[in-house]
Amino acid sequence: MPRQFFVGGNFKMNGSTESIKSIVNNLNSAKLDASTEVVISPPALYLPLTRELANEKLGVAAQNVFDKPNGAFTGEISVDQLKDINVNWTLVGHSERRVILKEGDEFIARKVKAAVEGGLGVIFCIGETLEEREANKTIEVVTRQLNAVAKELTKEQWAQVVIAYEPVWAIGTGKVATTEQAQEVHAAIRKWLHEAISAQASANTRIIYGGSVSEKNCRDLAKEADVDGFLVGGASLKPAFVDIVNSRL
Ligand code: PEP
Repeated sequence: MPRQFFVGGNFKMNGSTESIKSIVNNLNSAKLDASTEVVISPPALYLPLTRELANEKLGVAAQNVFDKPNGAFTGEISVDQLKDINVNWTLVGHSERRVILKEGDEFIARKVKAAVEGGLGVIFCIGETLEEREANKTIEVVTRQLNAVAKELTKEQWAQVVIAYEPVWAIGTGKVATTEQAQEVHAAIRKWLHEAISAQASANTRIIYGGSVSEKNCRDLAKEADVDGFLVGGASLKPAFVDIVNSRL
């Protein structure tokens, strides 16, 4: 079975009640490629509003989740709380959390495990900094990030994971990876899945690209064999998101 194309929209810490209503209503009424899975990720405060307003074809993701079930963890949100409001996806390991909030590989891996065991889908973000790319460490870095999660999941649990390859130097910078750069890393991730997890995980896991994806560059990126979709930041707040969802039409 071919991998279903997947487009995620990460609103980051942007939006208000009014603007999020308008984005979701726009998506509800847009003609979206029915063969693409679309999941939007507003700030936590707007998750209930988004889930209530979005039609059933649109998935909704938290931007983060904690690795403990409940208790004295001020400011955190649990897997069960997300499920309680019918939010079935979460991002984990976004580079802004890795770099700005200093989340490490092991903590991120525990969060992926908690989310997967609770039945959520996980958009697991990985990627190298500019310094790491320039030192030819891209594959080493993404392999390290993947290995941390591999320690926590069973082979079967990878079915709940979408891997988002997001080079840190391309996020929010307007500097998109070339189609060759994206394909090269995606192919390496697929090879890793084959060797470290299973042939099935390698064939079935969606590997999506993120980093300055726009309505202008999405079509060429979408043609690459191992690019199964996108994680979109800035452009997910704009009408251009519809064109990105429809990049294969
Ligand atoms: C992101 O936040 O995951 C992202 C890819 O951002 P942008 O599209 O703005 O680069």
